[in-house]
Amino acid sequence: MLKFLKQIGDYAKESVQAARYIGQGLAVTFDHMQRRPITVQYPYERLIPSERFRGRIHFEFDKCIACEVCVRVCPINLPVVDWEFDKPSKKKKLNHYSIDFGVCIFCGNCVEYCPTNCLSMTEEYDLCTYDRHELNYDSVALGRLPYKVTQDSMVTPLRELVYLPKGVLEPHDLPADAKRAGMLPEEIVKQEEQTAQ
Ligand code: SF4
Ligand code: SF4
Repeated sequence: MLKFLKQIGDYAKESVQAARYIGQGLAVTFDHMQRRPITVQYPYERLIPSERFRGRIHFEFDKCIACEVCVRVCPINLPVVDWEFDKPSKKKKLNHYSIDFGVCIFCGNCVEYCPTNCLSMTEEYDLCTYDRHELNYDSVALGRLPYKVTQDSMVTPLRELVYLPKGVLEPHDLPADAKRAGMLPEEIVKQEEQTAQ
């Protein structure tokens, strides 16, 4: 009799434990049902990169003075600055400039330290290619105007999902001027400045 009661007790304990595990699993499921969607129908839809996004580097050939600062500050000495000394003007003359984006880590050091600001980071991140050697951009490719998600008529630009208005789960048909739930980086800076005053 005691053995039978013990078996019933064990069975009840296991049932309670199983119910608790099911409850925990469902809690995760229900929690995800409340979350915002993170699916973007790439490449037809694309997120607008943040303002300080470090994408493909843009290069302005005419502004470059071939000083090679970008090479010295690059952690892997990546930019190739091909120049020759021009005797009549007694200045360096730039022949070619290239950066291999297959190797670049997009740290932005070269952009930061270039004395003539001829380098800049763009929001271009879609650099995929079938041949890694095609990622070695020469001065012509680097000088190409940057692609902008908001200016491509073939693409639906999506704002960052974290900034969706409160309670909105579907970002795809949202008007551009809809109020955001969170604050933009510049709004946070402004708020901190006001608090400091
Ligand atoms: S630092 Fe700027 S100006 Fe100097 S070589 Fe590099 S890109 Fe040209
Ligand atoms: S972004 Fe960084 S790794 Fe890439 S070329 Fe500039 S300094 Fe070098």
